[in-house]
Amino acid sequence: MGKKAVRSYESLSGTQQRERRKRLRQAADYIGCPISAVASLPHTASTTTPADLLHLPTSIREQIRTVRGLHIPSEKRMIQCKKALADTHGTRTGTFSRGAYILDPIRFVTAVAGASALLVVGGDAGGGHTKLGITYTVLDGCTRLQTFAALLVYEGKDGWEELSRLESPGLTPFEGDSAEFPHIFAVLQHLIDKRDAFLNGDWPFINTLLGYKNASAIHPCPICIVSHGQLLRTARYRTAADQHSRNLQQHALITIIPQRIVPTPLHVFLGISNRIILEAFSELLGEESVRSVLSDIKTVHTAGCGGLSDLFDLNGQEISKWLKHDCSTKLIAAHAASAGASAAGSASAGSVSDAKKASLSILSQWLQQLHDCLMRKTVWDADDIEAWRGVVSDIHSHWQVEAHSNPFPKLHMLHHTVEFAERYRFLGRASEAQIESFHRSFNSLFHRHHHNLSRNIEERLRRSLADSALRAVQLFAPKQVAPPPWPPQTNNKGPPTCPDRNRTRDQKVRSPSLYQLGHPVGHEVFPSKLSHILLLHTQ
Ligand SMILES: [Zn+2]
Repeated sequence: MGKKAVRSYESLSGTQQRERRKRLRQAADYIGCPISAVASLPHTASTTTPADLLHLPTSIREQIRTVRGLHIPSEKRMIQCKKALADTHGTRTGTFSRGAYILDPIRFVTAVAGASALLVVGGDAGGGHTKLGITYTVLDGCTRLQTFAALLVYEGKDGWEELSRLESPGLTPFEGDSAEFPHIFAVLQHLIDKRDAFLNGDWPFINTLLGYKNASAIHPCPICIVSHGQLLRTARYRTAADQHSRNLQQHALITIIPQRIVPTPLHVFLGISNRIILEAFSELLGEESVRSVLSDIKTVHTAGCGGLSDLFDLNGQEISKWLKHDCSTKLIAAHAASAGASAAGSASAGSVSDAKKASLSILSQWLQQLHDCLMRKTVWDADDIEAWRGVVSDIHSHWQVEAHSNPFPKLHMLHHTVEFAERYRFLGRASEAQIESFHRSFNSLFHRHHHNLSRNIEERLRRSLADSALRAVQLFAPKQVAPPPWPPQTNNKGPPTCPDRNRTRDQKVRSPSLYQLGHPVGHEVFPSKLSHILLLHTQ
């Protein structure tokens, strides 16, 4: 009986060629020889793994597959990868009324932040959704990058009533390593108690979580017991027994020592900078001058609709633009043009007094120093701390004279930024800025990629959360998935030709799966994949 002739590869259809390649890969796995060691084969040269593609939506992957010559893993392998990660990295998600959450947050946190020297729990509302999660660092070579991962998200604001709903028995049952925790705050408390996590968020969120009244209370600070009438002073730190401005109707959802509360560097920076630009500069050189300079840098500008207070506050990028484009100098020119137009012929038209120029210079310097110190991600040394202490002292001493306004709570928080930096030698890397970035990426997932589920809010939130969780573990995912069984279990064409075909089933050498081996989670970083995370958080 003659041997059946094997058709040449080139004569096969696309499907048949794919099947032939699959059998070749299976044979290579079986004998333990990587296909790349044999030759550079155009159709098998791709080393793209399913984990490499986790950050791309299905529609994009389908578009890539339409490109001749580009070969990426099939959707079937993508699903296998996602299912494996759900077990190994805790990315499985569930839903509750108007919300979604990660079913095993402890395993997930271990996977993404197990090797992180920094762990911060926190949350914020943005884009109509409140997120609770963790901020942590990942290493890209010698560079630390900060990122935020959500553990739970729900539709609504971050007020006490909505947050405390999450304590309802049975609302968010956890599984696996997290099965013992009755609600998300128990998980966050565990991270604070056992992983020495910090707490971040904006001022109202932190006060709400800790059971204090809001920032307009008599004792507004969550860190110390300073009085609202003496905000520029320091005061002793709060103790567990203190009742200063405690909200007796709203119990604390978590507890933490004051030293581990991150003193809201982003919001302090935004709050004071906006006061300087929108109020102090307007007081000095007029609203019109400020408005005309802002028109060049403001993303959404509402000129002509009332006073500057009607403008949305400037965001971090806009304030950075202000500094980069030296808008403080432009203000003087704008003031000259504005005054010249309104008082043509007057001898004093457009002139700016030396006193005003001096104030403008001081306020502009403060703006730059606030930006450089509160937003810096690097380690602080002793000189940095002393310099910053000097700046804060200067701002406190001269605020009312230079800014023509009364002290407000964020000026007080500057004290705590000095203390925090002195105690831990970092500040910006623990800030709430990463949560703000997460809002943008989550909104993109929610409104663009899962818009087709608009009637099912829970499922839409769950899929958006699942995608963000998979992106978070992408760095730590194994580089390969388990090879298919050998011989193929459903092959009705007989076993493929293989040098070891005479072995019995028990003798066959299998390539062990990384999952089966209990691949360690959270301790391996693949820097080449960091760009995906960066892309995600800079969208
Ligand atoms: Zn304080």
